Amino acid sequence: MLTPMPNKRFLIAANWKMHSPPPGFDAADSPYKTESAVDVAVFPSFIDLSRCISAQLITGGQTGRPEPSGALTGDVSIAQLKTVGCRYVLCGHSERRKNHGETDDYVAQQAIAALEAGLHPIVCVGETADERKKGKQHDVVKKQLKDIPSGIIVAYEPVWAISGGDPSKPAASAQDAQDMHAFIRSLLPDKAMRILYGGSMNGKNCEELLKCPDIDGGLVGGASLKPEEFKKIVEVAVALEKNYES
Ligand code: PEP
Repeated sequence: MLTPMPNKRFLIAANWKMHSPPPGFDAADSPYKTESAVDVAVFPSFIDLSRCISAQLITGGQTGRPEPSGALTGDVSIAQLKTVGCRYVLCGHSERRKNHGETDDYVAQQAIAALEAGLHPIVCVGETADERKKGKQHDVVKKQLKDIPSGIIVAYEPVWAISGGDPSKPAASAQDAQDMHAFIRSLLPDKAMRILYGGSMNGKNCEELLKCPDIDGGLVGGASLKPEEFKKIVEVAVALEKNYES
């Protein structure tokens, strides 16, 4: 059952992680270009940012330091991302939290720095399989969002649903995703922000997920590396937009 949301405009974001941009990313008919009805953004590795920006893709960093500059070898600041032409930055992706020790407090600092720099922060939250098994998913997400400023985009990415390159991994059910998205919306004072779903979204399951009233788009990892698959997701989002309008 479709429940139209007024002023809904999907954002479909491609997280390419430590992979090169897929073939044809910079072509005239690239599926990674923003559509008139749907926002599309790509998140390449730092070394590919400029190529994507030159190809006129809406581009974001996969992470960024909150300090504008400093003696931080190997890091890139959120202010630097803005300087090269990024529009978005991912904050606290679960792989950054796990592999680089990004804490809730650090993620909040990133989100604040991004807003100050004029970038849209996409704050990633989500529970592990163990936390869900213990019924703690709402507590975990609430804690992750505690100090987050308003005016951000949230990506709910249950860690257990992130494919990690395994295309057979199932996404969250539309019911579980909708339940958490409604909870996140109730927590945040700025009701106008978008809440994206991430975790094994693909061409087959995207319609069911994007139809949920509190899902405003997708953060797509593995499937975003396959141009045809990503195109399908964008097409579904465009069709749903049109449905809402009519
Ligand atoms: C991600 O890691 O942001 C992600 C959503 O990955 P995947 O789509 O591969 O599960």
